[in-house]
Amino acid sequence: MRIAEVRATTVTVPLEAPLRHSNGAHWGRFVRTLVELETEDGLVGVGEMGGGGQSAEAAVLSLKDYLLGHDPARTEALRFMLANPTASLYNNRTQLLAALEFACLDLLGKHTGLPVHALLGGAVRSEVEFASYLFFRYPAADGSGEVRTPDQLVAHAWDLKAAHGFRVHKVKGGVFDPGYEREAYRAVAEALDGDRFRYDPNGVLSPEQSIEFAAGIEDLANDYLEDPCLGLPGLRRVRERTRIPLATNTVVVDFAQLATNVLAPAVDVVLLDTTFWGGIRPCVKAAGVCETFGLGVAVHSSGELGVQLATMLHLGAVVPNLTFAADAHYHHLRDDVIVGGKMPYRDGKIAVPDGPGLGVELDRDKVAEYAELYRELGPYPYDRDPGRPGWYPMVPNTDFADPSRAGRPEALAHEPF
Ligand SMILES: [Mg+2]
Repeated sequence: MRIAEVRATTVTVPLEAPLRHSNGAHWGRFVRTLVELETEDGLVGVGEMGGGGQSAEAAVLSLKDYLLGHDPARTEALRFMLANPTASLYNNRTQLLAALEFACLDLLGKHTGLPVHALLGGAVRSEVEFASYLFFRYPAADGSGEVRTPDQLVAHAWDLKAAHGFRVHKVKGGVFDPGYEREAYRAVAEALDGDRFRYDPNGVLSPEQSIEFAAGIEDLANDYLEDPCLGLPGLRRVRERTRIPLATNTVVVDFAQLATNVLAPAVDVVLLDTTFWGGIRPCVKAAGVCETFGLGVAVHSSGELGVQLATMLHLGAVVPNLTFAADAHYHHLRDDVIVGGKMPYRDGKIAVPDGPGLGVELDRDKVAEYAELYRELGPYPYDRDPGRPGWYPMVPNTDFADPSRAGRPEALAHEPF
């Protein structure tokens, strides 16, 4: 089996409402780039990466000379072909490597008739549990979906639980000041008593604010506090002063950082992201290190359509020490680009695909529709808040959004969702 063609297509897929986070917002849609590798005998493997536009498409296609003629079964070799550790000091290709690894594993599965999980050691579970992912949101273009107050956050959590059966809830913070967000988080945890909870402000609190925040929620059913502040030394100080486990998806994203965290623990739970780690296989390896050293793991979401979601499901299927629910933005999407539409949640879980490869196929009509939508709308500035012209994110943040400002910002006037 040899790779004979490489394709990349950027798409934009609508969200139910713009999602706010510490760096700004997703302005009502995701922009993702789909990667396809076709073999000489016509098999097509698919991958997916974040961001997009001409630059992402060009970055994928720039690797064509490296990929043509390569046997997709040699996935370990890809790491050195595309992103060897010292060459990567000059060209950071981790996300490209990840998308191409997904496509190679998909090809290998299609070639052998086996699902990706079977290529990774075999599934130890047939479905993966997910947390609801609760965001503060701007209203959608039709005025619906605002989440700004604690009452709105609680109502949103109830809606998602009713629709999808979630028993674990993640509050994405870092938007409003920590005191306000602590009350909002407490309101959710108290309203949905009996479920479990986690809070993630994307590292924008100071260590001292993190310690204070933790002290104010210790009585709740917390899974963990995720990246309250940025950096291993600060997290280590917070960890010494709270009983709540700490987790990260930002400062343990490679093996050197994982080793540092083993030698001098700063977090208890490592959130494995199939993109940030450069593929599914590095995540499986990292999960093995975590198992050895008694660290928890969970599956992280950096935004996904169905292809990336499939990578998360196959990872979740094979990792024995997955004791926490996975994260996904998936339920915020209005549509997907895979055949059959969005994968359904049942009792807060999604079934691991069992077809060959990743077990998902691109719906060509949907890909064309959302590639056209991308050409119409272009990118959006992920690291800018449409409601705060001129503001940019600082870490730690000292200038949070004002929760009394309701409504849809003027800057979203040309965004259709
Ligand atoms: Mg996070």
